[in-house]
Amino acid sequence: METITHSVFERGRSILGRLPHGKDLLKTIEEFCAQNSIQTGVFSIIGSVMSATLGSYDQNQQVYVTFKKEEPLEIVHCTGNVSLKDGKVAVHAHAVLADIDGQTIGGHIFSETVVYAGEIYIQELLGKPLEREYDDTTGLPLWRL
Ligand code: ZN
Repeated sequence: METITHSVFERGRSILGRLPHGKDLLKTIEEFCAQNSIQTGVFSIIGSVMSATLGSYDQNQQVYVTFKKEEPLEIVHCTGNVSLKDGKVAVHAHAVLADIDGQTIGGHIFSETVVYAGEIYIQELLGKPLEREYDDTTGLPLWRL
C-alpha cells in the first residue's frame, strides 16, 4: 500500500520578518533564503499585495493556468515551503487573497505578485536538504524522498 514518503528534520532557526514594500513576494523569499543559507523550511505570511499572479495546475494538460489581479488584495492566508530545485532555493507558495469587499480568490503564487506590506514567519528545517525532481506521473517537480 502507498504511504507518505518522507524525511525527518530538526527545527532550525525560527525567523520573523517584514517583507519589503513594492517587491516581488517569491523573489524576496528566495533571495532571503539563499542569503541566509536556508535550504529547507516552511513559512506563512499575512499582509497585503498590490497585485497578484495566481494559478492552478491543469491536471489534464499538465500545465499551470495563471491569472493576474491588478488591485490591492489582503493576504488572508499564505503558506509555503522552501526546498532545492536544480541546486538552487525554490519557493512554493499558495495563498488566499481577499479584495476590499472580502471576496476571496486563491491559488498557487507566481511572479509577479507585488508586496504592499507583509509579515513572514519562516521555520528553517535542518537535515538532508529536500531536492525537487521531475515526476513522470504528475508532470510536476516533486520532492525526491
Ligand atoms: Zn502549488
